[in-house]
Amino acid sequence: MKVMKFGGSSLKDSDSMLLVGGIIASDPEPKVLVLSAVQSVTDSIVSFVSEHRKDEEIQNLIERLKTIHLSILGGVAKDMTTKQQAVNLLMERLAKLEKVLYGISYLEELTPRTMDLVQSFGERLSVVITAAMLQDLGVNAIPVDADELGITTEGNYGNATADLKETRRNIHPKIRSMIERQETPVVTGFFGRTPEGHVAVFGRNGSDYSASVIANAIDARVLEIWKDVDGFMSVDPRIVKEAVTIPNLSYDEAAELSYFGAKVLHPRTVEPAREKNIIIKVKNVFEPDKEGTTIEPCSVEMGGAIKSISCMKNLAIVKAYGAGAGYKTGVMYEISQRLSDAGVNIYSAATSQTCVALLIEKKYLGMAKKVLADLKRGIVDRIETVDDIALLCVVGEGLGYRKGIAARVFTAVSKEGVSVGLISAGASMVAYHFTVNSKDLERTTRAIHSEFFGARHE
Ligand code: ADP
Ligand code: ASP
Ligand code: MG
Repeated sequence: MKVMKFGGSSLKDSDSMLLVGGIIASDPEPKVLVLSAVQSVTDSIVSFVSEHRKDEEIQNLIERLKTIHLSILGGVAKDMTTKQQAVNLLMERLAKLEKVLYGISYLEELTPRTMDLVQSFGERLSVVITAAMLQDLGVNAIPVDADELGITTEGNYGNATADLKETRRNIHPKIRSMIERQETPVVTGFFGRTPEGHVAVFGRNGSDYSASVIANAIDARVLEIWKDVDGFMSVDPRIVKEAVTIPNLSYDEAAELSYFGAKVLHPRTVEPAREKNIIIKVKNVFEPDKEGTTIEPCSVEMGGAIKSISCMKNLAIVKAYGAGAGYKTGVMYEISQRLSDAGVNIYSAATSQTCVALLIEKKYLGMAKKVLADLKRGIVDRIETVDDIALLCVVGEGLGYRKGIAARVFTAVSKEGVSVGLISAGASMVAYHFTVNSKDLERTTRAIHSEFFGARHE
């Protein structure tokens, strides 16, 4: 049994949907499908609720969503009965979304819990039209909502993780019996339900992670993640057009790359699959015959080279200065505990005799300053911050022990005249990362890519 995940970049119009339909219908293996919302639908919902809206604006959004989904449905499903059932279900779901939006507007309040509920509607709509298309193609496809299926979450609204044990207990028997009835579940990605029964999302682009969670729960043979690119590439092709596809990555390599910003996979996608040794394939909907990238337990070295570079923007550095900050017991604990209690993730840390420097997301800078402000007595003398920071992560199996790679990376960086901030090497045997000013990110990335992949340096 396999899990196949299709993201917004493959679900954008009737033509791309039909390609998706063809890939699914021509594959005889029993499967579970996991879908994102239609492209830009989640963005529209998120930006809509970010401001106070009038009644007619709510009606306009609902009309727009209706038009997008009905027009795709019209292009992919011909059978009148199938189509009518899908239209009825779409209308029911849009009516519920409309009520939720009026609720937000009248209460003038958007709690994290409501934010997650409202965001989940993109996927609740896309599974309906995709299942209708597949039924038309002769696949016995059934739309399934992840919260009703029993994907159970833990942690915060907005960035939940899955409780793998509980999820398996809930969904394994249901999926097995659907497969025995020769049904193909078409499951909403992106969210699950908290133990209290509320919707919680896994963070933006969370459907990759949902698919991995489902693959883990049903002991899938393989997890296929279908994108609009040939696979995991040597760098984001939007930054360096000469990016090449990487045939193989180990779980460690893929985990480091996606954690440190490779937008092609949600940061936590690898973990649930890795727990069960499930192979992950990243493939292109528009070029399905290409091999794509295989992510698997063992590593395949690429003869002295690095495999990929990932980038993250919108970061900030918090520096806590104080005599003995680096060796005094408890300083690091105290700082990280406070940040963690405030929900601030630390991406990297470096200490010296006089300073503890931490890399965090820029959006949490104000919060970090606030929670660290009263640390000053005895522990730190002053806090300094730098925003507009970006991170580059260089990944390749063997990087931790092979000589000369760091020299090539940093020579390429210095030739650009770029200065480096925090550096972290040694924590992972497959990755280094370091920070630069945001304005230098793209040219630094191109310079390193050019050094290792020989691409023309723009
Ligand atoms: P979907 O929404 O369909 O899941 P995404 O748009 O989230 O797909 O991810 C695919 C995009 O990720 C690609 O179009 C590409 O621009 C970007 N990307 C960033 N880094 C990489 C990388 N290293 N390899 C491939 N694609 C990457
Ligand atoms: N629809 C959600 C988003 O846009 C989840 C996903 O696409 O994976 O973030
Ligand atoms: Mg996406």
